[in-house]
Amino acid sequence: MKALRYHGRADVRVEDLPTPDPADGEILVRIATTGICGSDIHEYRGGPLAIPLDTPHPLTGDRAPVTMGHEFSGTIVALGSGATGLRVGQRVAASAVLRCGTCPSCTAGHPQLCRTLGFHGISGGGGAFAEFDAFPAYLANPLPDEISDEAGALLEPLATGIHAVGRSGLTPGQSALVVGAGPIGLMVVVAALAAGADQIIVSEPSPVRAKAAARFGATAVLDPKADDVVARVRELTGGHGVDAAFDTAAAPTSFDTALAAVRPRGHVVNVAVWENPTPLQPNALLFSEATITGSLAYTPAEFTRAVEIAAGGAHDLESMVTRSIALADVVTHGFERLAADPGADIKVLVRP
Ligand SMILES: [Zn+2]
Ligand SMILES: [Zn+2]
Repeated sequence: MKALRYHGRADVRVEDLPTPDPADGEILVRIATTGICGSDIHEYRGGPLAIPLDTPHPLTGDRAPVTMGHEFSGTIVALGSGATGLRVGQRVAASAVLRCGTCPSCTAGHPQLCRTLGFHGISGGGGAFAEFDAFPAYLANPLPDEISDEAGALLEPLATGIHAVGRSGLTPGQSALVVGAGPIGLMVVVAALAAGADQIIVSEPSPVRAKAAARFGATAVLDPKADDVVARVRELTGGHGVDAAFDTAAAPTSFDTALAAVRPRGHVVNVAVWENPTPLQPNALLFSEATITGSLAYTPAEFTRAVEIAAGGAHDLESMVTRSIALADVVTHGFERLAADPGADIKVLVRP
């Protein structure tokens, strides 16, 4: 079968691999479609960040070259021994969070903070930019008929948005600023609406992404190139600032903007992957008593919630897809193009 493998920075290749066999506790899935994630592009342009290059990953035992792809839907074609609760023919989407199951984070219900955390499609052990993918059955989430293959490939980023909103402590009736309206920013908008936010301000310079933010329910969309975002947020919130701000952009001023835009004791959540450090003036915390927190991936319950929200049909998640490309074209039309001009697309799906 064909699969996209990461060899190193700016070096990904479509190669011929044997179709995997599901090991004990694994399932084999025929991939329907797989999204290219911002993290994939970070690995390509600025990595390796989470891809094991020299030392094998403790959970998968693999190191580069590894097959990429972790936002996908597909159909189960075989079950390994010990893979229970699922059946051949079932459509599934999958969590990417590989965990040990026994460390303090895992036993406390935070597998995304596992001491030996890995990501399926990043840390080895298979990946979904491929015709077939074998992975642990515990990652699989069955898809109801209401969820299309395309929407199924968007559940992983939706779960990430749900977790970020959870980390912010946002409660019904509150306000949020989302910096960046790429797929994760848009999923934070969807999740904030589902959590009952009544004011969601988005800052996004790309016209195609700004338009999508309005369509997904942002109450105001600002252009950081033209607007003084912090001043406009103040105006829109009666001079107070938002209850929660989410940095999904990792842009030179995005973190400062998020921190300056929250109300006293507001919450700033970093959801972005940074390729470089960013300056922080701690006085901004002193004078606002703001809380800064991080948000990584999601819990299994949050993935289940993503399935519920998508099945509820309130949002046309598929409209986030700006292009669908063949696996043979994933390097040129996918990785190279997204690394050079990320703002021109929202979500690109790959069809094996
Ligand atoms: Zn992702
Ligand atoms: Zn663990």
